[in-house]
Amino acid sequence: MLDTARTARPGFTHVTNPARIVFGPGTLSRVAEEVAGQGGTRALVLSTPHQKADAEALAAALGELAAGVFAEAAMHTPVEVTVKAMAAFTATGADCVVAFGGGSTIGLGKAIAYRNGAPQIVVATTYAGSEVTPILGQTEDGVKTTVRDASILPEVVIYDPDLTLGLPVPMSVTSGFNAIAHAVEGLYAQDRNPVASLMALEGIRALKEALPRIVAGPRDPEARGGALYGSWLCGTVLGTVGMALHHKLCHTLGGSFDLPHAETHTIILPHSAAYNAGAAADALAPAAALFGGDLGGGLWDLAGELGAPRALKDFGLKEADLDRAADLAVKNPYWNPRPVERDAIRALLRRAWAGQRPE
Ligand code: NAD
Repeated sequence: MLDTARTARPGFTHVTNPARIVFGPGTLSRVAEEVAGQGGTRALVLSTPHQKADAEALAAALGELAAGVFAEAAMHTPVEVTVKAMAAFTATGADCVVAFGGGSTIGLGKAIAYRNGAPQIVVATTYAGSEVTPILGQTEDGVKTTVRDASILPEVVIYDPDLTLGLPVPMSVTSGFNAIAHAVEGLYAQDRNPVASLMALEGIRALKEALPRIVAGPRDPEARGGALYGSWLCGTVLGTVGMALHHKLCHTLGGSFDLPHAETHTIILPHSAAYNAGAAADALAPAAALFGGDLGGGLWDLAGELGAPRALKDFGLKEADLDRAADLAVKNPYWNPRPVERDAIRALLRRAWAGQRPE
């Protein structure tokens, strides 16, 4: 007899991310081939000012395939920077972009593609995961808006772990927690599906294994490869299913209190995981098992072991800000496995502010 208890599954829709992923040490040398593969003949190479030298070296290696370098990418994709980059794209006769960097640079490439449809080749150098999502957050006059569109998803992503060997350890850890946060929320997402959950779990496992090794030896190539692999999986989950309380809290804190992106994710994640632990117990069980059965507490302990920040008060948030933060976080209703209750959110934020272990 058919065991319906085991075979019956709730229905789901899974859309496979169509991006081309090129993974492995030394794959930076494949950029020219990938530009040509997209029909590109002149690539505008993008970076932040901090990574300008690397972008220039890449443009030099591309030779005639490079239209130029635009190295003014900034956090939160300010529209005024995008306008300047669009002018550079036209002036240099570019027909595609190569974004070399983390979420800020990738955001600029997405903003260009959203406006002119240019193919994007991304060389990802952090663990934030933006390179595999069709999501773009932009800021104009201090207001951040988010758009989701097929034109925003980069066509090609190159993951070369060699480029992350010098990613500073504190950034590696917080960027890795940012990635884990996508996966934790993906596990209990309202529109979760078995494939996204497999990727989420494997992503968490890979990062949990790699991050302590990176702290012990930042130039460990295997650990760097493991972390980049995990961040690809976690980013893919972010691009595939919906997020909930954790991302809402981080966007509120980042947008209204100017708290730094990756550090805020790192501090909030143990608390948001603990908040949802009971309501999403089944969905989170395999991830909790990786942390001895207590996901929130385990993530908090891991952050401590890795020397990561654990208190919002260390980033300028005042205790007096907590009421407004809680009000903003519950202002517009959104789905979460556990109802989003103002007083419980205020208590969550108070613990995260003070640096206390989640309850
Ligand atoms: P980032 O891109 O802002 O990079 C931070 C700094 O580190 C920059 O100066 C950068 O040049 C430098 N850097 C990057 N890689 C380096 C490396 N390998 N070695 C040395 N320095 C390096 O940081 P991020 O955390 O990758 O991105 C954060 C931004 O991305 C935020 O604006 C966030 O909103 C956005 N984001 C968007 C999505 C999405 O799906 N749209 C997803 C995640 C993050």
